[in-house]
Amino acid sequence: MNLHEYQSKEILRLYGVAVPQGGMAETPEQARQWMENLGRDVVLKAQIHAGGRGKAGGVRFATTPQQAEEEARSLLGSRIATPQTGAAGLPVHRLLVEETVAIDKEFYLSFTLDREAGCYCLVASAAGGVDIEETAAKTPERIWRRRIDPCLGLRPFQARRVALGLGLRGESCEEAVTLMGNLYRLFLDRDCSQLEINPLVITGNGQLLAMDVKINLDDNALFRHPQQQALFDESQLDPLEVQARRYDIAYIKMSGTIGCLVNGAGLAMATLDMLQACGGQPANFLDIGGGASREKIAEAFRILLQDQDVKGVFVNIFGGIMRCDLVAQGIVDVVGAACPWPIVVRMAGARVAEGKALLAAAGLKVTCADGLEEGASRMVALLCPPVVE
Ligand code: GDP
Ligand code: MN
Repeated sequence: MNLHEYQSKEILRLYGVAVPQGGMAETPEQARQWMENLGRDVVLKAQIHAGGRGKAGGVRFATTPQQAEEEARSLLGSRIATPQTGAAGLPVHRLLVEETVAIDKEFYLSFTLDREAGCYCLVASAAGGVDIEETAAKTPERIWRRRIDPCLGLRPFQARRVALGLGLRGESCEEAVTLMGNLYRLFLDRDCSQLEINPLVITGNGQLLAMDVKINLDDNALFRHPQQQALFDESQLDPLEVQARRYDIAYIKMSGTIGCLVNGAGLAMATLDMLQACGGQPANFLDIGGGASREKIAEAFRILLQDQDVKGVFVNIFGGIMRCDLVAQGIVDVVGAACPWPIVVRMAGARVAEGKALLAAAGLKVTCADGLEEGASRMVALLCPPVVE
């Protein structure tokens, strides 16, 4: 789960990390109010779950309360598209209004997971700011990485090595060591999967300040932080993803035309691979998990049918704990006789005969298959019929 920048900064404050003064505004009047309260020039930042806002016009400056109100009016209710959002962009419903800061130098600093090494990882660069992707691509030697043993934690000497590598000396260096320690503590306490500060700046008067922050929380640990669930902003997700989340269905939108209903993540990946191998393009990754109820299956099917890009549905179920007849029932519940798209059902395992009988009895136009490859190739053939000469 992603947090907004203003939410993340509230958390940083709790951990003793310095951030600019300011707060969230949902109306132009509130933005003006923030500027009047702060009594200084402000920056207004669109709160969307994506980076790259600066280059996309999502970061504005104001020197009068009137101007703050106008900039806020033009940002609120708009959509901002950055390389991280896709062409449609994300809606702006909230702004962060904070004091502007004179920047002397911009750094990049993040904690994340190194999945290959099975440990945490500290990443830092003296070439921080809006061009960090370019730095990573063109001059990767300018990026520092340090693996952190989860049993030992971040050692002060590791943090000091990184701070020195960033060119920090004396008091700034020690300040950075403390800052990294605080961030690491936050990262663990809050079960983050990513904590990224870009830029971390040295201000005109030599202070270290987190100017922009992105926090990503590990969804699997959300149950340990009930207070953090309230920070969820569903306006930033595809409505179908929100619907899926309610039913605990793993749903990820992709760019193709074949909707997939599958039980189990491994089977879902094999299904996507097989469709591609047969010349098809999946429209999504949809995993209903093991032991789904008839209602959950029906809901998953509804999500598939609402997706405008779907032109065919491929159901691939391996019945273990899941019963094939329940899956068939779920399909019948939703589809009726009116599905505009071809449906291919590959089922195997528990109660498969009963499942097929149910589909047949309902009179659905469903193509059944026994094997995965057979099912995938039939699906693709139905979508792109061979040209008859
Ligand atoms: P992002 O583009 O989504 O990563 O948004 P950021 O919050 O990082 O803002 C983009 C850039 O705007 C930063 O890297 C800074 O260079 C600049 N910026 C943001 N706030 C201020 C500010 O208060 N003062 C100055 N001088 N620059 C700022
Ligand atoms: Mn940034």
